[in-house]
Amino acid sequence: MAILLPELPYGKDALAPVISANTLDFHYGKHHKAYVDNLNKLIAGTDLEVKSLEEIIKIAAKDSVKAGIFNNAAQVWNHSFYWRCLKKSGGGAPTGAIAAKINAVWGNYEKFAEELKNAGMTQFGSGWAWLVLEGDQLKITKTANADTPLAHGQKPLLTLDVWEHAYYLDYQNRRPDYLAAVIQNLINWDFVNANLVS
Ligand code: MN
Repeated sequence: MAILLPELPYGKDALAPVISANTLDFHYGKHHKAYVDNLNKLIAGTDLEVKSLEEIIKIAAKDSVKAGIFNNAAQVWNHSFYWRCLKKSGGGAPTGAIAAKINAVWGNYEKFAEELKNAGMTQFGSGWAWLVLEGDQLKITKTANADTPLAHGQKPLLTLDVWEHAYYLDYQNRRPDYLAAVIQNLINWDFVNANLVS
C-alpha cells in the first residue's frame, strides 16, 4: 500500500498573487512529492508498508531509529493538510463554530490573527504554525522541522508552513509578509470548521 501524493484541491495558479504558481510548482510538485517518494522507499518491505500514514507517524514518533521515516511521513501529512487549509479568496475573520471559539479564547479575531502570525514568525528555522485542539482547549502552537501535533496528542485544525521553500520565491526573506498575506487572504475557514467536528 504505497502512500500517495494527493492532488492539489485547486489549480496551481489559484492562490496567486499571494502564493504564486511558481511556488506551488516547486513546493507541491518537488518538495511534497519528494517526501512521498522518500517515505515509500523507506517503508518498502517493512511492517510499516501496510499501515496508514497516520499510523506510520505515530509509530515512528516513538522510535528514534525511525527518525527518517517520521520526518518524511510527517511532512507528507503536514503538506496534504496545509494545502486544504488554503483557498482562493479565503482568509479574514472566520465564520461558523470556530469564530465563537476563537473569540472565547483570544477575545477577538484581530488578537488571534496577531498571535498566529507571531507563532510563525518566532519559529526559529524551519517548521509550522498551528491552531490545534488539545482536549477541548483551542491553542496556537508551533513545531520545528517535520514535527506535527499528531505526534503530541493534539488535533490539528489549521496550519501555516514556515519553511523557506513555502515563501522564498514570492517573498524572499520576508516571512512576516507571507504570513500576513496568507492569514488575510487564503485561510479556508470552511475546512477549519470541518476539522472541529471531524
Ligand atoms: Mn513545505
